[in-house]
Amino acid sequence: MSASKRLHVVGAGLAGLAAAVAAARAGIRVCLYESAGHAGGRCRSFHDEKLGRLIDNGSHLLLGANKIALSYARATGGIEAMVPAPPRFDFFDLADQSRWTVSPTRLPAGLGEILLALGLPWTGSEASVADRLGQSRGYARFWRPLCEAILNTTPEESSARMFSWTMRRALLGGAPALSPWTFPLGLSAALVAPALATLGSFGAEIHFRCRLTGVAADRLEFEDRSVGLGPDDRVILALPPWAVPSVLPGFDLVLPTRTIVNAHFRLDQPIALPNGAPFLGLVGGYGHWLFPRGDVLSVTVSAAEGLVDRPADEIAALLWSEAARAIGLSAQTVPPARVIKERRATLAHDPATIQRRPGPETAIPGVFLAGDWIQSPWPCTIEAAISSGLYASQRALEQKTLSFGQ
Ligand SMILES: Cc1cc2nc3c(=O)[nH]c(=O)nc-3n(C[C@H](O)[C@H](O)[C@H](O)COP(=O)(O)OP(=O)(O)OC[C@H]3O[C@@H](n4cnc5c(N)ncnc54)[C@H](O)[C@@H]3O)c2cc1C
Repeated sequence: MSASKRLHVVGAGLAGLAAAVAAARAGIRVCLYESAGHAGGRCRSFHDEKLGRLIDNGSHLLLGANKIALSYARATGGIEAMVPAPPRFDFFDLADQSRWTVSPTRLPAGLGEILLALGLPWTGSEASVADRLGQSRGYARFWRPLCEAILNTTPEESSARMFSWTMRRALLGGAPALSPWTFPLGLSAALVAPALATLGSFGAEIHFRCRLTGVAADRLEFEDRSVGLGPDDRVILALPPWAVPSVLPGFDLVLPTRTIVNAHFRLDQPIALPNGAPFLGLVGGYGHWLFPRGDVLSVTVSAAEGLVDRPADEIAALLWSEAARAIGLSAQTVPPARVIKERRATLAHDPATIQRRPGPETAIPGVFLAGDWIQSPWPCTIEAAISSGLYASQRALEQKTLSFGQ
């Protein structure tokens, strides 16, 4: 592909941004198209009128083990808006009010169950995390919350193999791999705005409010325009799984998804967790994680199928009563709240769905797929999205060595 030819990236979520940044840094002309009026997709910040604050669609966390995502953040400068924390995870049990801390030297699990979690002995491809670890001592307080946080799927459904793979990356990588990275200025300041600025500095074209409606070997059809493709042009569709069947002829894969619910509460004053922890894990209730940011406290519920259909004010009241107990505030008056229901936050990570994740090639030569749902050892996460974008660019440009650096 010569330097005068173009890479067209459709979708400005993290997969599309990563594909575009990797190509632009290699001197390729990039055109990025996004149907929304903003970039970031399922991982973004916005100003919420009701709370009068910048909030994220949902609190996100990276781990040191997410090496490609961190290299992307370094390449764009977004890492400056991220903060690494010591590898320490505080928990609170809503049922009995107990508190405990998990760290590389203080795992609430015996050696036998740690080996099981790491995938030893051999794990059958159909086994679930509950099959594997359900009888273990650390199940309710460690493996279950970890599984729901990482796979956004109940342990009864989740693939034990995929869980073990992520555990090997996190637990065997030592303290740096387990270190959480947080986003005190919001997701967009770290993962979205610096990528757009990087693309701008390389002269990439960025088109918002530009919805793709069809793809052919010689053109891209958008709602309001048609873009012709030259013989050397390449295309990356960095779309969510449910958007592809309507634009890519012959692609009819439908994959099940799972929900994440976030409730953001605006408090009267800034809130800090004990020991200055950046987040707190909850067990024994609906809420899974608390994230403080200034005077906003956010509660995350993964695999939230049992909660999502309730009205937002009921969810807010329920989650506030749990959060208030965990941080020692009155549960009586629910502060101003914004509930965000991401009904298609990630794929379901059960063995059958994982098997069906497609590769990046499509039936149209020169057209590739990217996104967190494309085949990967990682579950649908920031790491999966960013690495799929990088790999799609490598394939499209036939440059295997393309990378974000260290
Ligand atoms: C609430 C929540 C919490 C999460 N927490 C974590 C976490 O803690 N850690 C972690 O690693 N991951 C987490 N994730 C997962 C992570 O956010 C996703 O894996 C990642 O953002 C997916 O990026 P993507 O680019 O693959 O897809 P998307 O973000 O879905 O991007 C696709 C883009 O394509 C655009 N688009 C769609 N149709 C069209 C069209 N026809 N034409 C043009 N553009 C189109 C969309 O508007 C969107 O911008 C979380 C997700 C959610 C929702």
